[in-house]
Amino acid sequence: MKQSMLIEYDITFNPSLRQIEIRLLVNKPIQEGQTLSLPAWTPGSYCIRDYTKHIISIQATDRATHKKVALRKINNNTYECESAAQLEVCYILYANDNSIRGCYCNFDRIFINGSAAFMTLSGFESLPLQVKLNKQRINPEYQVATQLKPVDAPRWGWGTYFANNFDELIDCPIAISDLHIKEFLVDKVPHAICMIGRILGDTQKLTEDVAKICQAQANVFKDVLPFESYLFILHLVDDNYGGLEHRNSSALIASRQSLPMDGNDRSKEYKSLLGLFSHEYFHAWHVKRIKPNNFINLDLNAPAYTTLLWVFEGFTAYYDDLGLVRAGVITREEYFILLVNQIVRYTRLPGKDYQSLAESSFDAWTKYYFPNENSINQGVSYYVKGSLVACLLDMQIRLKSQNQKSLDGIMRILWEDFAKQSKGISESDIENLLVDSGVEKSFLQQAVYECALLPIEDVFSQFGLQLDFAPYSQIDVYYPDAPPVSSTQGVFGWLLKKSDAAVTVMSVLADGAAGQAGICAGDEVVAIDGFKTTQRSYDVLAKRLKSEQTVVVTLFRDNLLKNISVKLATPQLEIAKMSPMNYLSPLQKEMLDDWLK
Ligand SMILES: [Zn+2]
Repeated sequence: MKQSMLIEYDITFNPSLRQIEIRLLVNKPIQEGQTLSLPAWTPGSYCIRDYTKHIISIQATDRATHKKVALRKINNNTYECESAAQLEVCYILYANDNSIRGCYCNFDRIFINGSAAFMTLSGFESLPLQVKLNKQRINPEYQVATQLKPVDAPRWGWGTYFANNFDELIDCPIAISDLHIKEFLVDKVPHAICMIGRILGDTQKLTEDVAKICQAQANVFKDVLPFESYLFILHLVDDNYGGLEHRNSSALIASRQSLPMDGNDRSKEYKSLLGLFSHEYFHAWHVKRIKPNNFINLDLNAPAYTTLLWVFEGFTAYYDDLGLVRAGVITREEYFILLVNQIVRYTRLPGKDYQSLAESSFDAWTKYYFPNENSINQGVSYYVKGSLVACLLDMQIRLKSQNQKSLDGIMRILWEDFAKQSKGISESDIENLLVDSGVEKSFLQQAVYECALLPIEDVFSQFGLQLDFAPYSQIDVYYPDAPPVSSTQGVFGWLLKKSDAAVTVMSVLADGAAGQAGICAGDEVVAIDGFKTTQRSYDVLAKRLKSEQTVVVTLFRDNLLKNISVKLATPQLEIAKMSPMNYLSPLQKEMLDDWLK
């Protein structure tokens, strides 16, 4: 296999300088000169990152003559080489991106997200490639986790790996460290969780729960698993949260405190870690195989615009928590709390009135991935609103069909009739499937293309779910987790960042008391009605302020002291609790059971 390989990436690491050196060897480059480029973005993360900014140096030589080959950068991502018999391009990357979308290299751990590291050669994209990982300067005890196929490497070991083409190469992240490996089977297919970082918790409990979640998600599609094995790479750090999906693996990053303490852990942090596993695993079907039309042949040099991220991320965000209750790792009551959280995150913010789901999807490249202090007033998340729309669609399909159909059925059609036929999904495909399943066209129009408030209460009550309301006081606290407030408490309508050093306004609600009074994002609040404001004192003071009361907020703006009078608002009522109605019809009972099982 090695002899016939045209392209090889020979990788060495320099952890003291946080550098990754890649020697790209091409046996038969294009004779007129070779174009090569590094992707501008990574699939699954819809923002242009221009990874070439991390290239410290790059040079090309002809391996046949040992002579230097002229290399010219022609745009942000692309280089042109003059002709060579055997081309070697050597480039050094600075690798200090502590996320799962870039490259990271120090003595503790190494991570390579392929899009951020591997240059592609035009004309060679569909050819097999080889990756050699060299362990000099790295702890020889460290292991390797990747879904690249080993050519000359032991399991979890150093050596040479292989990918069938460039897409597969960049779809298989590589993690190198002191790995804590847990393995399990789902439908007889091997799965592994490779944990990196200090372990403070019960990883056996995590493994058992994740195995149940994977099974619950696989059950949606009622088919053999679409991969021969699956790998979760979990980075455990002090404070971070995120994931990136791949076809047969995913890279996750989470706080080490989110691991379960023991078998009985019910913490919010642990549930959100399980939600992350659930989310990325569901993506192995939904977005990695079931795809929007224009994701079939992705151009990684330019944005891939789609109005359908609400389907691909929103449905996945719906199924992630639903997968937890279906797997039995959380109770129904706990699931209802998660659902209420999503509802509040949607209803509370004014931005939902200004941006539709389709717009939010299309503009992910400039808006969702570049939030600013006013995002809460002008945008809506295709994750949050998309997941609620998915939930409402599921309920409406079940209601219309007397529980004979469901969103699971739509997922299976997307899987069987589109993904397995290598067909992409268009807006009208989704619309037709949903309308054929009983969804009103007018609902889709309003929920996806307009900004009308979603009919949550109406649909939930038909489904047999009762919603209870309570007043809220702070925009950054999701209600079911927050202490109850009195309906007479005064509300600022601001989002604060509180530290020991300062209490700073992050955002103000456009229609909130603070915003209306002229308080701006960035203002540093030093006193309220003469009381010094600190991280600790603010919470104590805020509870004692009454609605309609006028207070003087003393703040620094641009290092100038100001006093601004604010007439506090009355807390609004919002959904605080969800529960099945006392009396459920037989159909409602059946729908509820089928939905959550
Ligand atoms: Zn996602």
